[in-house]
Amino acid sequence: EQDVTEYKKSLGIRVSGFDVPKPIKQFGDCGFSSTLMGAISKQAYEKPTSIQCQALPIVLSGRDIIGIAKTGSGKTAAFVLPMIVHIMDQPELDKEEGPIGVICAPTRELAHQIYLETKKFAKPHGIRVTGIYGGMSKLDQFKELKAGCEIVVATPGRLIDLLKMKALTMLKATYLVLDEADRMFDLGFEPQVRSIVGQIRPDRQTLLFSATMPPKVERLAREILTDPIRVTVGEVG
Ligand code: ADP
Ligand code: MG
Repeated sequence: EQDVTEYKKSLGIRVSGFDVPKPIKQFGDCGFSSTLMGAISKQAYEKPTSIQCQALPIVLSGRDIIGIAKTGSGKTAAFVLPMIVHIMDQPELDKEEGPIGVICAPTRELAHQIYLETKKFAKPHGIRVTGIYGGMSKLDQFKELKAGCEIVVATPGRLIDLLKMKALTMLKATYLVLDEADRMFDLGFEPQVRSIVGQIRPDRQTLLFSATMPPKVERLAREILTDPIRVTVGEVG
């Protein structure tokens, strides 16, 4: 117990919530498949970052999380690696179904970065990822979605458009990530984010990441997360 407290301190993290899983020390502590371990090695990620050490065991245990950490702390892998595990645990989708995992990010640039990072871990598992943001035609995205996919990485506005076009439904979605939630709100996407969350079954697993937690984001977190564990890295939040 004392050791765990010391270890958290050395990681520079603060954690609140009940029944918090112990932080890990290395990726090998996560019980990942050899395929996933291989993909991690390929990225030359030697050891997990602070947020990854604490977020990975929390998310792998199925709990909801609020992760508060500044840019560059490695949040993407903290939500993508457990998403891969979550998807591999589900029955295979029928050809044209999906997605199981939904990731929302504020801008097309951020969504595209996440898309690229997600592909690296998804591809070796045969998991299909579709990017839904500006820069590519809606028609192409419509076709790709119609063919089926396990993961979508989206900006809120474009995802709403494609939902309205019935390019996809989120009936199978059980894992939702809201990345950079504060920026999504700054950009005025609160109604879109709420609409998206409202279309995903309430017994989903929900992950919310943000650099700061203004009252509006705090309120959303209280409304849409179930017994979340809050992890704060460094002095932010
Ligand atoms: P954030 O979302 O917190 O801003 P990212 O997930 O974009 O951070 O990661 C920042 C950079 O660190 C990326 O280039 C990513 O590939 C790299 N990275 C992530 N995890 C690790 C790790 N465990 N070891 C080394 N580099 C990592
Ligand atoms: Mg990020």
